[in-house]
Amino acid sequence: MHKVIIIGSGCAGLTAAIYTARADLKPVVLDGYEPGGQLALTTEVENFPGFPEGILGPELIERTRKQAQRFGAEFRSGAVTAVDLKVRPFRITAGKETYEAQSLIVAAGASARMLGIETERLLLGHGVSTCATCDGAFFRNREIVVVGGGDTAMEEATFLTKFASKVTLLHRRNEFRASKIMLERARENKKIVIKTPYVIQEVENVAKQSVESIKVLNLDTKKLETIPTEGVFVAIGHDPNTQVFKGQLEMDSAGYLITHDGPKTNVPGVFAAGDVQDHHFRQAITAAGSGCMAAISAERYLSANGH
Ligand code: NDP
Repeated sequence: MHKVIIIGSGCAGLTAAIYTARADLKPVVLDGYEPGGQLALTTEVENFPGFPEGILGPELIERTRKQAQRFGAEFRSGAVTAVDLKVRPFRITAGKETYEAQSLIVAAGASARMLGIETERLLLGHGVSTCATCDGAFFRNREIVVVGGGDTAMEEATFLTKFASKVTLLHRRNEFRASKIMLERARENKKIVIKTPYVIQEVENVAKQSVESIKVLNLDTKKLETIPTEGVFVAIGHDPNTQVFKGQLEMDSAGYLITHDGPKTNVPGVFAAGDVQDHHFRQAITAAGSGCMAAISAERYLSANGH
């Protein structure tokens, strides 16, 4: 029986672990499919307060994890495959283990959708990015590509023109899912060139561990083209990791957990933090902040209920 179990070990989960460990709640953190969350997949982080020279994403995660361990947080590997939030204590299954907990902090994050090509995966963090706010500043006066046709792609392409000399926006259809206003803003921006209908087939150059160009297929002409570029921003949406909570925790139509009064979910004693409940800000610092809120709320819930 545990006082608090934290699902997810990204920025939100680890911050919740530091706070609950310091409150002597002996948290157990279940690592999940992507230990360290999205920060573990990025390189330089320049906008996390307290690191004037910047810090590597994996290093920031490792340091935060050690900070939580220093106060007694325990980590278990394995992704959660089932939860029962109708019983008290809550039951959580991860791998072969079943845990019981009086309170639960869900910080399972969201995963950026990827195109699914091998070279994209190999160059992630080396010119391929899923976060313009995080990585845009590395592309000052460079030519870059943004992939996607929704609001995220429009927003990121427009944002990236602050840094890049040219942004090529590639979309697989001639019609856009993006709202009219955001599409128009991108169309009117002189630094943005929109190309449709195109799909990326290769990101080059894996041997040099940096992006030099992409091979794209024009779906109308069926011809292959090469576009020189130093960065590829994949902006085709995110999927919150909330499958196991379906039918138990309230979520919106895209699967993000709905919270109220800060981190509270519809089940008393279950709190949510980070990208699993936020598709708007998606920053390390906002995830950390909401992890802190979830931890303090869990602590208050436990003491109010005599645990
Ligand atoms: P969306 O699901 O709206 O759009 C995803 C886009 O990526 C689509 O154009 C889709 O193409 C394309 N895509 C998906 N998979 C692939 C693939 N494998 N290869 C190539 N292209 C692919 O996601 P968004 O993140 O853009 O938006 C999510 C929600 O957040 C929306 O409701 C949006 O309005 C909102 N949002 C609002 C903002 C704002 O108001 N400031 C900013 C950002 C997001 P296709 O159309 O062909 O399926």
